[in-house]
This record gives sequence, C-alpha cells and structure tokens, in this order.
Amino acid sequence: MGRVCVAIAANSATEMLNRAAEVARETPFLEFRLDELEKPQLVTSRLKSFLFDRPLITAIATCRRKANGGSFTGTAQEEIEHLVTAAKSGCHIVDLEIETAEALKALALEKIRAAGAAVMLSFHDFKSTPDLDAVYARMAKFSPDFYKIVPTAKTLPDSLKLLKLLEDKCEDGNVVGISMGSCGMITRVLGPRFGSMFTFASAANGEETAPGQITARTLNELYRINTIEAATRIYGVAGSPISHSMSPLMINTAFRRETVNAVYLALDTASVKDLLKVVDSLPIHGVSVTMPLKEEVLPYLIKTDPLSARIGACNTLVRGDDGKLYGFNTDVGGIVGPLERRVPLRGAKVLVLGAGGAARAAVFALVQRNCEVSILNRTPVKAQKLAKQAGAKVIKRDQVGKTRFDVVINATSYGMSGAKDVTAPLTAEEMNCGHFFELVYNPIETPLVKIARAKGIAVILGIEMFVQQGARQFEIWTGKPAPQDEMLRVVLHALRQQAENALPPEPAAKAETNAPIAVEQRKAPSPSISEVHPAKPATKAATPKPLPKPVAPAAAVKTAPVKVAAKASSKPQPAKAARPTPPAKKALAKPLKSKSNSPTLARPAAKKQAVASKNKPAPAKKSIASKPVAVKKPAKRAAAARKPAPAKKPAARKK
Ligand code: NAP
Repeated sequence: MGRVCVAIAANSATEMLNRAAEVARETPFLEFRLDELEKPQLVTSRLKSFLFDRPLITAIATCRRKANGGSFTGTAQEEIEHLVTAAKSGCHIVDLEIETAEALKALALEKIRAAGAAVMLSFHDFKSTPDLDAVYARMAKFSPDFYKIVPTAKTLPDSLKLLKLLEDKCEDGNVVGISMGSCGMITRVLGPRFGSMFTFASAANGEETAPGQITARTLNELYRINTIEAATRIYGVAGSPISHSMSPLMINTAFRRETVNAVYLALDTASVKDLLKVVDSLPIHGVSVTMPLKEEVLPYLIKTDPLSARIGACNTLVRGDDGKLYGFNTDVGGIVGPLERRVPLRGAKVLVLGAGGAARAAVFALVQRNCEVSILNRTPVKAQKLAKQAGAKVIKRDQVGKTRFDVVINATSYGMSGAKDVTAPLTAEEMNCGHFFELVYNPIETPLVKIARAKGIAVILGIEMFVQQGARQFEIWTGKPAPQDEMLRVVLHALRQQAENALPPEPAAKAETNAPIAVEQRKAPSPSISEVHPAKPATKAATPKPLPKPVAPAAAVKTAPVKVAAKASSKPQPAKAARPTPPAKKALAKPLKSKSNSPTLARPAAKKQAVASKNKPAPAKKSIASKPVAVKKPAKRAAAARKPAPAKKPAARKK
C-alpha cells in the first residue's frame, strides 16, 4: 500500500473498471466508489475477475449513503450487502460509515470481516471540524481495523486540529485523516507525515470525489508525497484567494530540480493570526505572503529588510536560526531586475498605474534608483499619499496622453484573470512609451499587453516578475541559485494550458466558416522563453545576491509582536540577520512520533497476509521536467477530454 489511494468514480461499471485499470498503472491503490453507480451490483459482480487479474492492486470499496455525503440512495442494510459482495470479490478494505455501524450495531462489521475484508470505519463532516478526540472515541467503540476521519477545515487552524489528532494516534498506525476544503489542502499533503496511513486523491482534474481533493499525479510529482519525511522542510504561500496561485507549481518544481528536501503548500487564509498559528505549530521555514496579508503581517515580524520597512509591505517570511520570523520584499527585485536589463534607470521617466501593494514596491524602488516616477490611480487620494511617502509625483489622467514615458508599469489588477472591473486604466491613445511592463501575469497576454504590442512598444511580461520574485525567495530560503529557466518553463506551460482550456470549444462542423478564426484564437500570441528573458539568460541570474540586512520595522517597535517563537528552534538567540537555516542541519522541533514514512497497517490476520504481499506503488515515472503538472481544467472539459460525457451523470461530482 502506498501513501496515495485514488478514488475512482464513474457513470457505469465498465467506465469504472476501465478507469481503474488505467489509473492502477501509475497508482495501484484504488477506492471504488460504488455509490456513484445507479446499480453498484453491476460493478461488484465484475470486481472479482478484475482484481484477480491485477494482483498488485489494493482495493477499497465504498458505498456511502446520500444522508452521509455519498450518492447511494438505498438503505443501510443494502449498503452492507453491496460492501459484503465487494469484500467477497477481493476488495481488501471496506469503508463503513459510522452512521451505518451505529444503526446496525456490531453486526455490520462482523459481516464484512467474515467476507474477508478489513473494516475502515469512516466519519465525515461536510460543514466543520468538530471535537476530533470525541469523534475518535465514538468510533473506537466499534474497534474498527482502520479509522477514517474526514472533517471540513473552514480555517487553517482547523487543519492543525486534524494533524494533531494524526500525530497523537500515529503510534496505532491505523488512522487516515484528511480535512476537506481549500483550507484543508495542507492535510492532504502532510497527513502521511503526521501519521495518516495514506491520503486520498482524484484520478484527474474534474474527477474529484470530495471537496479539495488533489490529483494523484500532483501529489506524487509536484508535492513528492512519497519523499516527505520528518526532515522535509515546509514552505507555503499564504493569502486568499490562493487556489489559483502558480507559486506551488513554480517553487515545488524548483525544489525538485535542485533536490531540496522541502515541500511548498497553499495556505488559504486572509487572517494573519491564523497564519501565525500555523507557522507556530508546524515546522514551517518560510512563507510567500500575498494579498491581503503583505502589509498586515509587518507588525508581527521581528525584523524586515530596509526596503520592506520603507515600502510597508513584505512578501517573504523566513524563520531564522532563532526561530523568529523575518521579512523580505522580493517584489522589488522582480520589478527592478527586468527593467534594469532593458532600460537605463537613472533619470528614466516612469508612469506607475495603481497605488496598491505592487505599485508601492515599484514606486519606492524606482525613486530610489533615481527615476522620475509619476503615479496614476483610479482613487487619486491613494496616489497622492503614495507619492508623498515615496517622493514621486501624481499625474492627472488628462496629462497622461500628452506625456512621453520611458516606461509605463501596470500595477493595477486590470486585465487579471477573474478581475471584475473592465474599465481600463489607460487607453491605446494614452499609451505613449518605450517599454510597457505588465505586472499581471495571468493571463500572459492582457488587454494592455495587446495594445502595447499593436503599437510596437517593447513589452515586459508579468510572468518575468513572478519568476524573479519567486527565484529570489527560493534563494533566500535555500541559499542555492534558483533554476529560473525551469521555473519559467513550468509556469508558462501552465498558463498556456489554462488559456487554451478557457477558450470556447471548437465550433461544430456546420460552422465551418468560423473555423479559421477559432484556430487563430487558439494560436493567440504567447511568448517564448527567450522572449520573456531577452536580455539576460536565466543562468546568469542564478547567482544569489547577498541577503539585505534586516532592520526593525517601525511598526514592530510599536506593536507587541504575537509570540511566534517557533518550536523548530531549540535555543533562542538574540535577533540577528535573518539567514535561512541551512537545509537539514537542525532537527525539527516537532519530531514525529510515527516511526516510518510508510506506515504499516495493523490488519486482521485473515487480510494481513494478502495485503502484505502487495507490491509498493512504483515511484512516479514521468518527471515533472518532462511533463508539468496539469493546471486545473474546468470539470466539464476534463471529463470531456477523457471520454464523451454519458447522458446520465452530471460532470461535476458532489462528493
Ligand atoms: P492591490 O493592492 O489590490 O492594488 C490594486 C490597485 O489596482 C489599486 O490601486 C486599484 O485602484 C487599482 N485598480 C484595480 N482595478 C483597476 C481598474 N480597473 N482601473 C484602474 N485601477 C484599478 O493589488 P496589488 O497587490 O498591488 O496587485 C496589483 C496587480 O499586480 C495584481 O494584478 C497582481 O496580480 C499583480 N502582481 C503581480 C506580481 C507578479 O509577480 N507578477 C506580484 C505582485 C502583484 P484603487 O486604489 O482605486 O482601488
């Protein structure tokens, strides 16, 4: 048994078995969701020969009733009958809901065990995270072979409760724990590290059987779940919304490429306090901070680099040797680096559109480099405030078209994928410059980029800033040069895929006259790597710059910082420059109680031998370098890409 069990849900028995055969080639640990079929018996009757022919597969059978979050509409008694048939057909483990066990008493468990399967008693809460110790105690009355505890994390600290339970029970080696929802994502990756026997994954994007489920390929190849151990360092990107972020793809790729024993997760939170709770409780070594936390986090840091303190925003946290948190701003380098390579900055006339966090980084950094910076913002008062703080000017909209700039920077969210406001901060006539720098990176080709290209203006894309700021974070955290080419390659690939998936479907045959237009759209200009890095090969940028010297931010002096002393640090030291702790040098503060990375299972004797003989799942064959992890497709498209959608079933599964 591996760390990842893939849930197989389909619309027909044949589709389910075909899909299972396909998935088992990569991950031979499967959950058959019998409840997804109108007649579960159609698949249980064929499971015997299916599993007999594929002895490497470990199989779980689940037939969850509707009342408990599944799709099965029969009675508890009927559920047991399907599960018993599945057990007799060779399924090694049977998922039995606590509600069914309570309704039918110990009889249900006995029937399943007599049919030859181990019982995994399951608890699900689709709304919240209740008292998990009480849940465990409720389940323990049945002495199940395995416990499956799946609450919903509404906040990041909810996920901590689940991980704590796993850690507490890991000695027993028979608990599977996952928190559903986007705040529970960390438990899907870290669960096994904290003692969960395994975790559940979907077969592909669009085939999720529970909220927040990640694909098996993403868990295996991007998060390298099979290599996560006590010494693996944990990093993440914190903010909200965060599910669209390309940072996990980019940074995990870099970790993998440079063989850094670390994993980078999406920390979905809009609350600094929740973030700090997680950072305090888990051995987290660094965090990328994004909207809306960049400014809010400052008072809680022990020190920041001078630029973050002046700008009043920080996007990178590092846990120092003393266990305290230090802040850096790598957005600045991400803006200045690409500009410096193309434009002599001293005396350059720069127009910055926007007055938010990204604009602040641009304005402060460019004023410091002796640029003549003008700010134009939708809300003029914010532009005035920023201009005053940074020593820049405010420009009125009616003056913009009459002024020639060396550089125009779009630091507004106009054009960003998902942004609702469609009013452009600048028209084609008003764009009068030598270089246009678009900070929005998703999509690659924004409306303003299209205008600039049409006018023959040199374009700098947001993806270049994105990779640069991420590369600098990687260097701060690891002390190693960042593999920028590879980081850029995977993000470009993912963004292109996303753009392709967002296009309307190909026109039907009858609309043949429209076909060339559709093809044209599909091949909309999208940059090559050399276009994104025209002036300087990424390898050159791979030399890490020295860390800026942190200074105490004014806010930190005034505000008593929340206690974030990490359990990772054994001995507090006086505050000093925030050097990342050298990888794998220190023991983690919270060593796991679990004894191994591949928890062994306590099984009933009858089943033990059969399961023990199963091979471990083969490690992922395809490297992420050759096949980047797919970006989430809309459910419908993913299903359609696999097979024509059967009439009966809706594409997106509820559970
Ligand atoms: P923010 O703090 O929310 O600021 C957004 C700014 O955009 C505000 O000044 C806002 O004006 C202005 N704005 C929004 N929609 C506008 C519109 N339709 N017309 C004119 N102005 C508009 O956001 P942020 O953190 O600065 O980020 C801004 C953009 O930069 C985002 O798209 C973000 O994705 C991008 N960014 C990219 C990178 C990268 O690595 N490439 C890094 C950081 C940020 P008001 O003041 O009137 O509200």
